Amino acid sequence: MPAKKSKPLIIITGASSGIGAATAQAFSKLGHPLLLLARRLERLQALALPDTITASVDVTDAAAFEKAVRDAESKYGPADGIVNNAGVMLLGLVQEQDPKEWEKMFHVNVMGMLNGIRVVLKGMIQRRSGTIINVSSVAGRKTFPNHVVYCGTKFAVHAMTENIREEVSGSGVRLVTIAPGAVETELLSHTTSGAIKESYEDWKKTMGGALKAQDIAAAIVYAYSQPQNVCVREIVIAATRQAP
Ligand code: NDP
Repeated sequence: MPAKKSKPLIIITGASSGIGAATAQAFSKLGHPLLLLARRLERLQALALPDTITASVDVTDAAAFEKAVRDAESKYGPADGIVNNAGVMLLGLVQEQDPKEWEKMFHVNVMGMLNGIRVVLKGMIQRRSGTIINVSSVAGRKTFPNHVVYCGTKFAVHAMTENIREEVSGSGVRLVTIAPGAVETELLSHTTSGAIKESYEDWKKTMGGALKAQDIAAAIVYAYSQPQNVCVREIVIAATRQAP
């Protein structure tokens, strides 16, 4: 019997909680070796997934990001997929928010994603195969109260994903935008305004509860699992009862 062909390496950023952790579990179930990145190493290790390298990497640190990817590729072969999922949402009014919060969101949500793209794209173009999945948001398609800078970062994720998709489409490399609505994760907990957090929680109740991280992971796996000549360009996915 011929040896079973092993599955290629998938990289997932922000895999220590929420959507990233659920996505790691879903790809692992399919038998992929994984490189999982986030700052909280113990949370990555606690997932205890087989054929998985975990590394404490801040996605804004391009050199550390690249090193972790090259180390994983030397063990498992070239990355066939990356899920640029790490993100922060610090809601607030621009006239009241500490500019450090703007900076943080742009650094993690935008520069972190670009660092992830940069580290795999050239190789994927050379191999004429590969999939880059960027986690944006419904807030990357339309505006919401208190979301100004977060929306700005996610509009950037949408724009850059689509623009790179067009540029590299001839090479056979796919770029996919995932745009979730509200999902039950740790994301909201980092917002500093208690009043904004409370109103967001009330909003989630009006839709009968937000989606689960596993719902988004299933959409990510669906997009990746299509044949390489099929590119799911964007998935917008939210609770049925979420209106905007
Ligand atoms: P979580 O807060 O649960 O997860 C965020 C992840 O990003 C964590 O693993 C965190 O790990 C990681 N992260 C944050 N900063 C950095 C950094 N500098 N370097 C490396 N990793 C980092 O939230 P979600 O799972 O909800 O968020 C995942 C993505 O989904 C984000 O891009 C978010 O914007 C997007 N999204 C979420 C929605 C929601 O309602 N939850 C809706 C739409 C989009 P650590 O702290 O260990 O570094």
